[in-house]
Amino acid sequence: MDQKIKVFMEEVRARNPHEKEFLQAVHEVAEAVIPYIAEHKLYNGRNILLRLAEPERAITFRVPWVDDTGEIRVNRGYRIQMSSVIGPYKGGLRFHPTVNMSILKFLAFEQVFKNSLTTLPMGGGKGGSDFDPKGKSDREVMRFCHSFMTELYRHIGPNTDVPAGDIGVGAREVGFLFGMYRKISNEFTGVLTGKGLSWGGSLIRPESTGYGTVYFAQNMFKLKGDSFKGKVVTISGSGNVAQYATEKANELGAKVVTLSDSSGTLYDKDGINSEKLAYVMHLKNVKRGRISEYLEKYPTAEFFSGKTPWHIPCDVALPCATQNELHGKDAATLIENGCICVSEGANMPSTPKAMNAFVNAKILYAPGKASNAGGVAVSGLEMAQNSMRYSWSREDVDEKLQGIMNQIHDSCIEHGTDPDGYINYVRGANIAGFVKVADAVLAQGV
Ligand code: GLU
Repeated sequence: MDQKIKVFMEEVRARNPHEKEFLQAVHEVAEAVIPYIAEHKLYNGRNILLRLAEPERAITFRVPWVDDTGEIRVNRGYRIQMSSVIGPYKGGLRFHPTVNMSILKFLAFEQVFKNSLTTLPMGGGKGGSDFDPKGKSDREVMRFCHSFMTELYRHIGPNTDVPAGDIGVGAREVGFLFGMYRKISNEFTGVLTGKGLSWGGSLIRPESTGYGTVYFAQNMFKLKGDSFKGKVVTISGSGNVAQYATEKANELGAKVVTLSDSSGTLYDKDGINSEKLAYVMHLKNVKRGRISEYLEKYPTAEFFSGKTPWHIPCDVALPCATQNELHGKDAATLIENGCICVSEGANMPSTPKAMNAFVNAKILYAPGKASNAGGVAVSGLEMAQNSMRYSWSREDVDEKLQGIMNQIHDSCIEHGTDPDGYINYVRGANIAGFVKVADAVLAQGV
């Protein structure tokens, strides 16, 4: 079997030689899916995974814009349309200086399986730019977004490709992007998700990724007769996902003790309660400041400059920052310190070594494509509401989100239960996500 995976990976590597993150994401799926295909004698050697590892379309384009000093700046824009076999391409836009082809292809590839798991009819895509919104004025961000959309608009549409936010793209950016699309197309359609409430957005969409990550962990606990009550939780990141994961974990009776950003980790041993969280939200979303500024208001907290939260003892860890932020040695430290549950709010935050460490230690471990699927799931619900020209209540959307997270959890159990009863959520999510897409590929022909 190892030989089969090796041969497959050699073929993918030959075509994408320098795309480290993309190859990492493909390898993880191959490790689960290739043995499954062989064992069940499926798909008659039709190389479906190989087809899914090649984007249907990958677009790069120039994004010129003018900064506040009048200088002309140029960034690169991308949209990777990975698979539309079960629905329109769907996935976020990331604006971050590290954005490149490899990172967006890994994200688009993950998105295909994640979206399949949500039970909603969405294909997979991802896009973005190496533009850094950090330190830019609102007007600069607006000019950039408008320029970005003057090219992107010709490749997207409510039945073609529906982008949303990701790192660096929040409500502000989605607003500017939507405004330009509406102008150029002369249509008011649900072409983006994560829109403002008064112009087609869905209730719970801002909360959905963070809530979903916690709901998924809650499901894992429930199966063990356990819960969040009284658990100490460490969270990385301090953006939208981390904020709402904190809110939901608090609500379920846990104590969240960390948040972080690229400059380091905030540790508040007394817990980041709802009052403190409101301050974090103001700090990050309105002031667009650094997490270390928390100490100005709550000086009893500590700040670990340049560090991630994983050295701090906890029961539950929720990585909600970015890819490969949690290494093998971090996983070992977490396990050693008694961590019993990891639920990923970010995409591929654990390195392969860290993932193996969690699975080998047989702790509850949910990979992002299962546990963070709540975000894109509510995006799917936003698309449904837009198509109906209707909006559901907060309770309606939250109930649907919980239902979807339960179903994803069930799919993981179906395909990931080991003979000894341990649930390998990585294998479960990859196989469950794959089977649905592969069956559709087969049905539609080459
Ligand atoms: N960026 C989010 C993700 O990684 C959400 C995508 C969406 O809503 O389309 O799943």
